[in-house]
Amino acid sequence: MKFCSHCGHALTIGIPPLDNMPRHICPNCHMIHYENPKIVVCSIPTWETENETSILLCRRAITPRHGFWTLPGGFMENDETTEQAARRETKEEAGADVRISNLFSLMNLPVYHQVHLFYLAQLENTNFAPGEESLETRLFTEKEIPWDQLAFSTIKYALKFYFEDRKKIQNGGNFGFHTLDLTK
Ligand SMILES: [Zn+2]
Repeated sequence: MKFCSHCGHALTIGIPPLDNMPRHICPNCHMIHYENPKIVVCSIPTWETENETSILLCRRAITPRHGFWTLPGGFMENDETTEQAARRETKEEAGADVRISNLFSLMNLPVYHQVHLFYLAQLENTNFAPGEESLETRLFTEKEIPWDQLAFSTIKYALKFYFEDRKKIQNGGNFGFHTLDLTK
């Protein structure tokens, strides 16, 4: 950040009164430009058949990690809830309508200044199709998941947590809530 988004003056870096962190400060209009982590919201869209659960993945048409597989997700917008963000991103990237159920995982990525949330979601139907940011969308059973072609480690962990919980559910358990700090 070089210039004040409020008045256009060049910014300086300093610690404001009653603060303990360096911030971008405008010497002209005195606005302090705080930078805080961004929230990324993903869904884990599932489709149940008689004896198998499949997960909807998207192959990325954009950088970073072009051509790799991911769960639908993206940055939360200002005017929406986290659930709405999960539903919107799933529609945009995979053309899929989902029923969002519970919050399943929270991952801190302090190195990237991000917090990632994952919601469990059930596909309403199988009329999904790649959106502009996806090359391909398809359902994968656990055996079919392209583990070495996943776009990000957060996606790998979310899927790992999911299938671990699925096994517990077959033995009478429930989906848990999984937190993870990815500190590099
Ligand atoms: Zn200013």
